[in-house]
Amino acid sequence: MSTTETHEFQAEVKQLLDIVIHSLYTEREIFLRELLSNAADALEKLRHLQVVEKEVFDADAPLEIAVRVDDKAHTITVTDAGIGMTREELIENLGTIAHSGSRSFLAELAEAAKKDVNLIGQFGVGFYAAFMVAKRVRVQSRSWRPDADGWEWSSDAAGSYTLSPCPGLHRGTKIILELKEEAKEYADAGRLREIVKKYSSFVPFPIKIDGETVNTVQALWTRSPQEIKDDEYNEFYKFIANAVDEPRYRLHFAADAPLAIKALLFVPRDNFERYGLGRLDPGVSLYCQRILIDQHSKTILPEWLRFVKGVIDSEDLPLNISRQALQDNALVAKINKIVTRRFLKFLTEQAKKDAEAYNDFFKTFGVFLKEGVVTDFTHREELAPLLRFESSRTKPGELTSLAEYCERMPDGQKEIYYISAPNREAAESGPYVETFKERDLEIIYTLDPIDDFVFSHLGEFQGKKLVSADRADLELPDTGKKKDDHTGAEGEGLSAAEASALIGWIKTVLGDRVKEVKESKRLVGSPAIVVNPDGFITSSMERIMRAAHTDTPPTSKKNLEINCRHPLIRGLAQAKEEDEPFARRIVEQILDNAMIQAGLAVDPRAMAQRNYAILEEAVRRRPAAEHAEPPGAKTKMETAAN
Ligand code: ADP
Ligand code: MG
Repeated sequence: MSTTETHEFQAEVKQLLDIVIHSLYTEREIFLRELLSNAADALEKLRHLQVVEKEVFDADAPLEIAVRVDDKAHTITVTDAGIGMTREELIENLGTIAHSGSRSFLAELAEAAKKDVNLIGQFGVGFYAAFMVAKRVRVQSRSWRPDADGWEWSSDAAGSYTLSPCPGLHRGTKIILELKEEAKEYADAGRLREIVKKYSSFVPFPIKIDGETVNTVQALWTRSPQEIKDDEYNEFYKFIANAVDEPRYRLHFAADAPLAIKALLFVPRDNFERYGLGRLDPGVSLYCQRILIDQHSKTILPEWLRFVKGVIDSEDLPLNISRQALQDNALVAKINKIVTRRFLKFLTEQAKKDAEAYNDFFKTFGVFLKEGVVTDFTHREELAPLLRFESSRTKPGELTSLAEYCERMPDGQKEIYYISAPNREAAESGPYVETFKERDLEIIYTLDPIDDFVFSHLGEFQGKKLVSADRADLELPDTGKKKDDHTGAEGEGLSAAEASALIGWIKTVLGDRVKEVKESKRLVGSPAIVVNPDGFITSSMERIMRAAHTDTPPTSKKNLEINCRHPLIRGLAQAKEEDEPFARRIVEQILDNAMIQAGLAVDPRAMAQRNYAILEEAVRRRPAAEHAEPPGAKTKMETAAN
């Protein structure tokens, strides 16, 4: 009678195993780091269970990790006295991938793994690295729960695994690797000792290889910064962040009042949310007197700081606090506030000390600070000076702060101006910035879709309003640089009467597609522009909100401003007298063009048809203009094409 059950792996696990076995050849030694890190996690959890006074099975088993090597049978055994797994947990943890919701996950993993197998740990699938060296992996586990039974999980990675009862186990997990022929070199205690030194010296429990302890257990964050070497910090970072690179920033500090806090925080080099992994788990764990209370804590720092890795330890916390109770614990909230403030101050110092390095940080992680401005009212003010943008005064790719912008403001300028565009070129060639160029006023380019939301949440900076250049009521200060007031007095533009007749007619043509039609005071070289008459929604915000809710009715109506000195508009005034149907099409096309320049959607089919009709008219008229010179026609078409 056999009680062995066979289970299929989840499809994603099969694919993952395929990647692990067939495409990963280099640096296979990291399998040990992954197994030790899992063992350490299980021990940390157990230690915490013990302090919350739960009854645990095998209460006296020492909290350590034992590695045994059999160089005859070519096996490696990693044993821990951690929390262990029940039958259900074995199925859940070793048969499925938690991240599998993200569809691009495996593709990303395969890509990353090709570049650097070390990245596998970042993807939360470290256990499967065992199959890089083992032809069969057996996991014997006995949960801490007093009423649990022992089980053995076993697989050769060929699509399924088996489960069978395994009575008589101690608490915790024993992982037995039956090494592949070509990985037999790892059945060597000396080799394993080197690997532990290389990757796992910060595991906070004794690691014993064949009975001999090979690491020094220490909580780095409790030591004084003066006596810690850079190398130690970096190794510690690699250990807690499961990282391969070195951190770009490090902040190690201790406070005694109002709370006793020790914190060691790192900013990584890379932003892993870029890799299609979805939202990162928070990277900071909460300790109390060196005991892990909450790994990757969701409560100890604001959510937008999830890119920070590290440790926060406070002995003022009650040791036996449960994870659920952390959420509404006042002390935790206080620690959160203190550490966040300190971290923001640290970033401010870094920006002063080395602006280039800070800007590089901002390009990678600025998106999190912006998220903070939008979602976290309490830190909004402190975050604003840390933001960076391109502007008409920066070189492409260079960044400036709002404070620097304010310092450069000429007398008389009271507001901070910005315009959204998909990229710098679009911003610079669009109609919105021409009046700024002419007046020699600096304008910030908000090139990231979230930027306009950030500015609308901030509202102002240093008492100066943040104003989008697509607002209808834009009032720019007189810098004395503007050439004239564009009213058309020099005979270049339309007379006041002609302008108002044209505007009235355009409004009847466009009907309620626009709110108002006006003569523009701001345009220089462009014929027309759409601007937002009501309030704070910029065109960029509108585009994003509409993309998110496709059934949203077109939101605010725009004003169309026309440039009465522009040849196209002057020609239009004439065309409306001579050929109204044609002039109507021109007006509609002008509106569509202006909408497109604002980044807003138009009906592409109607627009293309109309455009063809206009082009047809243009080619039809051209020869007539050249040969017959009907009165008015030539000047009209030539100027319109300028
Ligand atoms: P991760 O450690 O990132 O969660 P892994 O693939 O390394 O991903 O492990 C998957 C899960 O299996 C772990 O989250 C844990 O729940 C469980 N697990 C692995 N090893 C052990 C162990 N030694 N003791 C208890 N649980 C373990
Ligand atoms: Mg792991």
